[in-house]
Parts: sequence; structure tokens; C-alpha cells
Amino acid sequence: MIKSKNYGDMPAEEFKKYGYELIDWVTNYLENVASFPVLPNVKPGDVKNKLPNHAPQSGESINKIIEDLNKIILPATTHWQHPNFMAYFNSTASGPGIFGELISAALNVNSMLWKSAPASTELEETVLNWFREIINLPKEFWGIIYDTASVSSMHAIAAARENAGFDIRKKGMSGVPKLRLYSSEQAHNSIDKGALTLGIGLDGIRKIPVDSEFRMIPSELEKVIKEDRANGIVPFCVVATIGTTSTTSVDPVEEIAKICTREKIWLHIDAAHAGVTAMLPEMKKHFKGVEHADSFVVNPHKWLFVPIDLSILYTRKPEVLKRAFSLTAEYLKTAEDSAVNNHMDYGIQLGRRFRSLKFWFVLRYFGVEGLQSRLREHIRLGQLFAKWIEEHPQFERVAPTPFSTVCFRAKPTGRNDEAKINALNEKLLNDVNATGKVFITHTKLNGIFTIRLVISGLRTEEKHVILAWNVIQDTFQKILNEG
Ligand SMILES: *Cc1c(COP(=O)(O)O)cnc(C)c1O
Repeated sequence: MIKSKNYGDMPAEEFKKYGYELIDWVTNYLENVASFPVLPNVKPGDVKNKLPNHAPQSGESINKIIEDLNKIILPATTHWQHPNFMAYFNSTASGPGIFGELISAALNVNSMLWKSAPASTELEETVLNWFREIINLPKEFWGIIYDTASVSSMHAIAAARENAGFDIRKKGMSGVPKLRLYSSEQAHNSIDKGALTLGIGLDGIRKIPVDSEFRMIPSELEKVIKEDRANGIVPFCVVATIGTTSTTSVDPVEEIAKICTREKIWLHIDAAHAGVTAMLPEMKKHFKGVEHADSFVVNPHKWLFVPIDLSILYTRKPEVLKRAFSLTAEYLKTAEDSAVNNHMDYGIQLGRRFRSLKFWFVLRYFGVEGLQSRLREHIRLGQLFAKWIEEHPQFERVAPTPFSTVCFRAKPTGRNDEAKINALNEKLLNDVNATGKVFITHTKLNGIFTIRLVISGLRTEEKHVILAWNVIQDTFQKILNEG
């Protein structure tokens, strides 16, 4: 071990030695990630019990830390980078993305102001303009990076609230008429959380019913807006989703946008997962009408191989977003303020990481064509899996598959008791996950226990989808044989 001094940073030669070692560690991990069980075999408390109760008084060697990383941390890790991680909305980190994170940590700039981080501020704006063009949003859209879609959407709802008037910025919510936000029954609960945070309240949200394909019904939206106005309630925001979390259903944005334009209501689009597919000409059909939105959220950390976290909020009204949040303390005023964007003005956080760097690495390394071909392959594999489900006499699809998320269940021939079928599918899911070979998750659709299989991992190939299907069929057969 190289002895550390009691002041200053780790010596350069030590950094270099372990730096190379850790890059080897990462390379080995990514090369062999498929050999781990996707889900670790741990119980709550297992990790804590292996860790000391107190921090060390004197410094420890990096060797020792790496030893514990291997002994304690790795065995208790759910492997999101695993090719058979097909749960939630899978997100994987690519090599170039990992490099971007490394350099961002090394530079450690705080991107609150242009002056505090000119490169970060301007790279963020440039890369987000590139990406706006890639996903075919109109020029008027201006983008900003937040950590997650939940936070992006909260800021969008704050801008919508500011846009409604009432001087809420100054006076707060008391004395303001009741405000209403609309989203479909299938919208992500981050929308509800944003509304909660902003004092809209759960009662301030109306969930619009969906059709048989889990898409918001525009005529229902129109009806409740009218009803609310008649009761003195002020409609201020509609959230439409392109790629809902349960089924990746797509709300009819074009029709919803017409209603919003006519009613002068802020339209926010949640495309956290599926928004990246707007770069594929054949997926354009799902994005009709997005040009009329006031704001749009998409997460490159979900399905674009950028390490978590990086979410983008695009808005055509950045001045409204800024009005909702900007307050400038004397010590943060700079000579360039009129010529630049200080990103602290567009949200609740002051300090910001240099997140655009990893996105820049990813966009440049893969190029638009490289990203397109990877997304296309995932969609092909998703459609292939959906076809296998359709063709199997004892399985059925529970929702359409517009992208690469397949919602399905087992339905043994001759069985009609829905409660029993639900229980069987729940067991199927748990037994499949217990094999450690695949990780999938579920949702409930109209009371139906629905298994979801998502293909969006950078390391997932056709052989992994075949493996998943074989594990699912074998496990199903075992359950049938057990009676
Ligand atoms: C995943 C997801 C979210 C939440 O994303 P975070 O970045 O984890 O906050 C919101 N909306 C949709 C449609 C999603 O798929």
C-alpha cells in the first residue's frame, strides 16, 4: 500500500495505479455481467450486517475498499447492465457514457452559472439542440437537463402553474381559485408527485379514462374541462404520455393538443422512456402533434445508454419556466447575466453536475445512425417476443406493443377463473425471477395481473430473448405439472 499523507489528495502515482486497476475492474464486470444472477440472492439487512457500524478513524487502502466492493457490494447488486434484465424500463450505461461520468467527476464543476461553468453551460445547450434536432422537435424548443423525469415534469407543472397567472410566485396558493391538472389513468405517478409538491393536491388532478388500448380518450378530457370551468375550477395543465409506464401506450397527442390550444391550457408530454424513438422515421406516427406541446420530457438515461441520471425537459416557453424560479442573490450576479443562460434560474437547484458531458460522449461515439440501429434492434426483438406470445396457445398479449415492451400473461387452456389465472401469473413471475436467469416485472391492467418484458438494454441480443422465453415456458410447464 502507498502510504497516504494526512493532508492533500491521494498521490498521483497511487491514483494512476488504482485507476488502471479499476478500469480493468469495470471492463471485467461488463464483459462478465451475464454470468451473475440478474437478481442477487439477498435478504433485507444482509448488506448492512456486513458493514461496520462506524466510519474508520484512520484511512484505509484502496485495495481494502476494492476487496469489500467485491465481497459485500457486488453480491448484493441487481444487475441493471445484465442482458437479461428485462424489468421496469431497463436502463444501461455504455462505455462512452461511463467515460463521460469519469471526466465529469474529475472536473467537478458546479454548473450553476455560466461563469461558474462556461463549458458545461454551453455544451449542455449545444448537445440539447443537437438532440432536439435528432428527435424532430421544432426549433423553438429549448432544453435543460435535470436528474430525472419526475423532476423534469415537476418543473413543467411549475411552469404551467406560473403560466396560469394569479401571481402565485409572489402570493402563494391562498386566494387562488382551484387549479386542475389532467392526465390519463395510465400516467406515471411522478405527475401526481409533482402536483403534490406544487400545492395542486391530489384532488387537483383528474384522471381521464382510457380506451381499450390504454390511451387517453380526448372527448372525456373535453367533457371534464367543460365541467370544471362551469364549477369555477381553472384547468391549467394537461399531461399526455407517449409510452406509458405500464404498457407504453401512446395518448392521441394531436387531438389533445387541439383541445389545449383552444382552451389555452399548458400541454406537457411525458415521453420519458419512448421519447428517444422519435429519432426513427418509422416511429414518427407516435409523435404526431408534439410540435404543439408546451413542454416535453425525455430521459436519455433510460433507453439511450447514458448512465443514470440524465433527463431533459424541452419547453417552447423557457421564459415562463425562468419566471417561475429565478431569484438572484447579490453574490451570484455576474457581468454576463444579460448575455448568457445561468441554469440555476430554471429550477429549484442551485448546484448542478456537468451531466451533458456523458451525453456528448454517447452521441459522438455512437452517432445518430448507431443509436438508431440499436433502438431498431430492440424494437425488432420486442416484436419478435410479442409474436412468440401470440403464437403460443397458452399465452396471450394483454396490450398492444408499439415499441419493445410486451405485456402478456399465461392463460392455461380451459381455465376461466380470473382470480386463479392472476395467482398463477404471479407465481410464474416470481418463479421466473427466482431462477436468477431473467428479471421481469408486472403491472395490473383492468384487474389482470400482467407480466411485462422490456427490451432496451445495450447488451441484450436475440439469444437473450430466446433464453428469457425458454425460462418462462419451462417455469410455466413446471407450475402446470405441479397442478
Ligand atoms: C420512468 C418514467 C418516469 C419517471 O422517470 P424518473 O426519471 O425515474 O423520474 C416518468 N414517466 C414515464 C412515462 C416513465 O416511463
